[in-house]
Amino acid sequence: MITVIHLLVGAVIGKYIKSIWLIIIFALLSHYVLDFIPHYSPSAVQGYLEGGISGADTKNLVLKSLMPFFGIILLAYLIFLNKEFARPMIIGAFFAWFPDLLVFMGCQFHLDWMNKIVPRHGNIFYNRNTSFLGILTQIIVFIPSIILLIFNRGKS
Ligand SMILES: [Zn+2]
Repeated sequence: MITVIHLLVGAVIGKYIKSIWLIIIFALLSHYVLDFIPHYSPSAVQGYLEGGISGADTKNLVLKSLMPFFGIILLAYLIFLNKEFARPMIIGAFFAWFPDLLVFMGCQFHLDWMNKIVPRHGNIFYNRNTSFLGILTQIIVFIPSIILLIFNRGKS
């Protein structure tokens, strides 16, 4: 799914699960579960797959960075609302997004060994159709995540 969804679900896991190790495990698993659900993903930035960041079309790169950028601002705001859980939320969000970082590094630095060990999950499961359903599945995950992040967890 798109970056913002992975970050928010990871933050939810961080906020509600108490053990750091369980947060890391569930956050990583959440990535693959979410990518398994059919969803719309924007295509790679023009020129990126051939030439990496330096070969990417600048206008297209900026445009496609807007959503992840918005996601990070939103996440920062939600962490601000949950100051007492800031650390586990950041850890959860990071590991929920981590598989995409590995795929990005494998691509960017042509790490063939990395491409072999990290499942190219995105390529296998997502569907590129700009279908209503592909956006709807992400909205269905987005709304409860936001609610869980705004709601007060309460002290325990
Ligand atoms: Zn992914």
